[in-house]
Amino acid sequence: MPTLNLPDGASIDLPEGEPVGSALPAGTVVARVDGRLSDLSFVPHAGTVVEPVDAASDDGLQVLRHSAAHILAQAVCALYPGAQYAIGPAVQDGFYYDFSLPSAISSDDLAGIEGRMREIVAADQPFVREEVSRADALQRFADQPFKQEIIERIGEEEGEVSTGDTVTLYRNGDWVDLCLGPHVPSTARIAAFKLLNLAGAYWRGDESKPQLTRIYGTAWATEEDLAARLARLEELERRDHRKLGRELELFHLEPTAPGMPYWLPRGLKILNELLAFWRDEHERHGYQEISAPLVNEKNLWETSGHWDHFKDDMFVIPVDDQITYALKPMNCPNAMVVFNLKSRSYRDLPLRLADCDTLHRNERSGTLHGLLRVRRFIQDDAHIFVAPDQIEAEYERIFQLCDRFYDVFGLSYQLRLSTRPEDYLGELETWNEAEQALRRILDRKAGVGGYLVEEGGGAFYGPKIDIVMGDAFDRKWQTGTIQLDFQLPRRFDCAYTDAEGERRTPVVVHRVIYGSLERFIGILIEHTAGAFPLWLSPEQLRLVPVADRHLEHCAKLAARAQEAGLRVVVDDAKESVGKKIRTAQLMKAPYTLVVGDRDIEAGSYTVRDRRGTETSGIDFADLLAALVRESQTRALEQTSFGA
Ligand SMILES: [Zn+2]
Ligand SMILES: [Zn+2]
Repeated sequence: MPTLNLPDGASIDLPEGEPVGSALPAGTVVARVDGRLSDLSFVPHAGTVVEPVDAASDDGLQVLRHSAAHILAQAVCALYPGAQYAIGPAVQDGFYYDFSLPSAISSDDLAGIEGRMREIVAADQPFVREEVSRADALQRFADQPFKQEIIERIGEEEGEVSTGDTVTLYRNGDWVDLCLGPHVPSTARIAAFKLLNLAGAYWRGDESKPQLTRIYGTAWATEEDLAARLARLEELERRDHRKLGRELELFHLEPTAPGMPYWLPRGLKILNELLAFWRDEHERHGYQEISAPLVNEKNLWETSGHWDHFKDDMFVIPVDDQITYALKPMNCPNAMVVFNLKSRSYRDLPLRLADCDTLHRNERSGTLHGLLRVRRFIQDDAHIFVAPDQIEAEYERIFQLCDRFYDVFGLSYQLRLSTRPEDYLGELETWNEAEQALRRILDRKAGVGGYLVEEGGGAFYGPKIDIVMGDAFDRKWQTGTIQLDFQLPRRFDCAYTDAEGERRTPVVVHRVIYGSLERFIGILIEHTAGAFPLWLSPEQLRLVPVADRHLEHCAKLAARAQEAGLRVVVDDAKESVGKKIRTAQLMKAPYTLVVGDRDIEAGSYTVRDRRGTETSGIDFADLLAALVRESQTRALEQTSFGA
């Protein structure tokens, strides 16, 4: 007799011939049968071990969401005759389905589709598994070209709809999809769901194939979980850096330069402050800054190996029959050139060459996303030339610098080791040694097992340690990276003389801390919801005259604030004071001063901070001193004037 293992530790015997679902607790959506997920209708044989899978578990949610995707496609097919449906997997937190539709739809149509889905849910249609021959399946999907293609390709690649000679289908009501399953027992189990948005997607992710309409939705085990997810999505939307970037006038993206942001005056202030902080800290930590051409002839990229390994991501500029240039996607080769300008000795090492040049990478247009995925960006780069026995000490120094940077922003980070990729350059032994060295460093810094490992994720020239940052919203972002490289210095014939007078090849550490400045600012915008700490705020003090006659006094105050080194805005718009205060809030002005007759007469002011706290009777000189202090110490919290 099959045995059912229950979550409370008890086990019961299932009568032979009974489906697994008959004896499992309520809330179970599928069963794990000898380790494999199966429908509750599955009839196990003697000796099988069966465990229930709850709807709220990771596996349970996956099945729930995929089942919701079927219902979505069923609803779309019912509402839009002639619709062709492609694939509909569960994804993180939700599901999608891709369609080719007889006519375009918009997000306004989602409510109607969702309504139809609710009817299907209310109808409580069981999901029924069927196995048919390939010929039968082709006939059944005669008017569905995407399904036909999937069936025809069975056997060519890892199949998701086939167990061998037969094709598996799932039917509910009069609707059928190709699918290996499993599914929830019936449509009524999908109660907590919502359709979210539409997007374009290419069939099989291939830009040369037809473009499809992708409908995204989310589904959860309970209404409470769904409500929590929707609240989070709303908050993420409120923080979306593209929306805030527009509202706060930080940056602009123009169709003639996809993925190449324009920095507007207010946004450029943030970028410049980040760079100033970076320069200051690097100067202090023994780095020397260089700047190199943005464009180099192809042979430099051939020497570095970028031409072979990275050409598809580079903007290549053919000049004539002889000369081809390429925009630099990375700074590394130029740092090698600078190293080679002088004869170097062991006493010059570590030699830390830093630069903040602009890089260009020809990322695929479909992957571009605001500031988070761009084609043009500044990278806070450095190439550190070390002797092999200096590697570990240099990593310690880099980690100290990372701690300093991330502390300033109130961000936490985790380290991730990425090991040898398939298309690696160089000797296997060198790679193994380098990976072992990095593991030792990480074991010491983060503790054994205290870091993530991504097998095969290294650069083609060496293993790397990535900095994975956590934001206020519990999201993870890869920002900085520290890469060990034995190859490039060899390819460029870099050398130094050791203490014995022998010629040696240095090792290069490539490292960035912010990563791409564009991306880092995108993350900061979402992390702070646009309310930057004072030192980064595009404006630090906003003066609001009550009437035009107070403008002159505001101008005098503004001049004093500027003199003190603060960024100040005078709102001279012909609007009511209430409207101007609202504008100050929308622009996330850290401090706002309303200036009227009484303030000028009293010679003291009421300051309003970003939290909405108002404090009166503040002397202007005291205010300036406090703001200068807050900005110079790069404080994360606003000053309290109330005390
Ligand atoms: Zn399915
Ligand atoms: Zn580099």
